[in-house]
Amino acid sequence: MKAVVYQGPYEVAVSDVEDPRIQDPQDVLVKISTTCICGSDLHMYEGRTDAEPGIVFGHENMGVIEEVGSGVTSLRRGQRVVMPFNVACGFCRNCRAGKTAFCEVVNPGFAGGAYGYVSMGPYTGGQAEYLRVPFADFNCVPLPEGSEHESDFALLADIFPTGYHATELAGVRPGETVAVYGAGPVGLMAAYSALLKGARQVFVVDKVADRLQLAERIGATPIDFSRGDPAEQITDALGDSGTDRGIDAVGYQATAAEGEEQPAIVLNQLVDTVRPTGGIGTVGLYLPSDPGAPNENAAQGLLLFDIGRFFERGLRMGTGQADAKAYAHQLRDLIIAGRAEPSFVVSQQVPLSEAPDAYARFDKREPGYSKVLLHPNADLPA
Ligand SMILES: [Zn+2]
Ligand SMILES: [Zn+2]
Repeated sequence: MKAVVYQGPYEVAVSDVEDPRIQDPQDVLVKISTTCICGSDLHMYEGRTDAEPGIVFGHENMGVIEEVGSGVTSLRRGQRVVMPFNVACGFCRNCRAGKTAFCEVVNPGFAGGAYGYVSMGPYTGGQAEYLRVPFADFNCVPLPEGSEHESDFALLADIFPTGYHATELAGVRPGETVAVYGAGPVGLMAAYSALLKGARQVFVVDKVADRLQLAERIGATPIDFSRGDPAEQITDALGDSGTDRGIDAVGYQATAAEGEEQPAIVLNQLVDTVRPTGGIGTVGLYLPSDPGAPNENAAQGLLLFDIGRFFERGLRMGTGQADAKAYAHQLRDLIIAGRAEPSFVVSQQVPLSEAPDAYARFDKREPGYSKVLLHPNADLPA
């Protein structure tokens, strides 16, 4: 089958790889209808992880079940499903607590597994015609038949639950104020989720104009950090000592206004942005190893985080990859009920063959490139 295969920094190719097959009675094979390119794929694409050439990308996958293992009880051939990006067992200590991003079973020696991602286990990615899904009864989220809401449902694999998770980590409650750093797809989903939860004002910080426009379109207040210190802009606008909650949807490849990489800048800006005793949710990625880091400490994940001021302000912070499964069912039902339409972030829908070009353009943050959906099998949606 055809799949998007990492070749080395700044290079992916659509190549022939071995067809996946049922390896365990609890597996299903899914024929992929939609699979998304994610900002976290770009960390691998840019050579900023330990990813080796040959890895098939794709952790945001949905499609129709093609083949069902003999031990699968709740799914059938022909069923439409979306797969939360965390591969999880459903029965270990963390899975039992809903913390499926930290499954202790699927990736021995490491807490957490995912499709098509470096160090996340032997699970081939879904930017391909077919995907093998282990522990399928747990890892497939059933969807209504047909093709309705395809783009909305595809975002249940990662970015909608991840954005929602950020608001949970930060502790967002109705009536509160929230600052979201990063207006990429995850930041926009975090802002959207905060608004769904009843936040009274949500600021979104970025410097890419069309991303800030998207933030404004959903009712958030855009803050352009190239025009001055974002924490100051926000506290000035609020007339208060800071927002109740803050969200980091940027991660370790954060840059200062002039474009220079400063891995801890967003974390420190959040310390300045959130009011004393407020909460911070960090879903932007931080890694213990960065081959392209701007300095020796950052190469080992050691950043200059202002713990002194963080402590002084009595802040708390939640971190880590999202437990997408924990939210996917409820968020799916919001979409079905017409109460949420996360696909406003989708900017391009292209066949799998165009993935190399789409990666290059998304990586350059070309205007109008916010979220790219790939369609490996079906015709493109109208
Ligand atoms: Zn993703
Ligand atoms: Zn588990």
